[in-house]
Amino acid sequence: MSFGEPKLISAAPVFRKSLLLWFFKNQRPLPWRKKSSAYRTVVSELMSQQTQIATVVPYFEKWVKKWPDFEALAEAKESEVLAAWAGLGYYSRARHLWQLARQVVEQKNSPRTAAEWVKFKGVGPYTAAAIASISFADPVAVVDGNVVRVLARLTASTKQWQDRSASVKYFTPLANALIDPRKPGDFNQAMMELGALVCRKRNPDCANCPVARWCQAKVQGKAESIPKFATKTLRQVVVHRALVLRAEKLLIKRYPLTARRLAGMAEIPLLSDLALEPTSSPWLSKRRTIGAVTYEEQVFRIKPKVSWQSRLKKNSELEWVRIHQLANAALTGPHFRWLRDWLNPDGLTKRDRLL
Ligand code: SF4
Repeated sequence: MSFGEPKLISAAPVFRKSLLLWFFKNQRPLPWRKKSSAYRTVVSELMSQQTQIATVVPYFEKWVKKWPDFEALAEAKESEVLAAWAGLGYYSRARHLWQLARQVVEQKNSPRTAAEWVKFKGVGPYTAAAIASISFADPVAVVDGNVVRVLARLTASTKQWQDRSASVKYFTPLANALIDPRKPGDFNQAMMELGALVCRKRNPDCANCPVARWCQAKVQGKAESIPKFATKTLRQVVVHRALVLRAEKLLIKRYPLTARRLAGMAEIPLLSDLALEPTSSPWLSKRRTIGAVTYEEQVFRIKPKVSWQSRLKKNSELEWVRIHQLANAALTGPHFRWLRDWLNPDGLTKRDRLL
């Protein structure tokens, strides 16, 4: 237990009051807050895992319009669900959400507690606590990166964690001691909102913080240096991709439904899928970081050859898709966005016509 924890716990009733007053006045008008239901909370929580709120909002609105409840989603086809998720990344979440809807519909009694929700595939302790506290007033604390930051600063914790999950484990008992048993859902959302809007990673707005009077890091003037995490060493990986166009069609690679990663989803194929190797400079390169790996995706523009016919026939994962139908091809988010930038939705750009 760090220096500030006992003081904070003994002030819990006043702390909750100050935090909730601030939250009711300052919370962002997010669509799942305007009209709340267990289904809408589940969808918003699964969509928000590893994804920014601003990205989630339009997807959420389209999703609940198309499938307004568990019953409607349970009736959907898997391919439709994946297409509606395209662009959000981490597609296993879409599949888990769809399977969850089918299981909830089959159950006689809807799950209510975090302990029941965590049994669903794809629902971890954080998501289970969020769903159960917001929709069913289960008094279980939600601890994410924002909450860790707030609690680490309130208690001026000087500990260094190897990763996020170690810090979450450490602060969960304190968060559970502070939670408002009468309004656990509002309390959890308020803590996360405070971390997102006021107790920001950089430039925390201590002057306007509703819980500043309990904050040890503010007193010690070291808010920005808390919490401390061990620095990760990033691994670099180079990937060679083939951009192959033929008569307004693009060659894509679709992963089989049995694949562990990206099952049913499509990507720009690898050069190696066509038994090719890079022989010149790439047309362009894109970098993206996933976890501790930075991928440099080098894209090569390749002219299709008549001699490929048998090669394409043998590889059942390769398929031609019309460019104007790319939005329905369940492409992964980054690849869909890149292709949308490179290719005119009405056809090929002049440059691509030269291929
Ligand atoms: S006073 Fe500053 S550092 Fe402390 S919780 Fe508030 S915003 Fe965060």
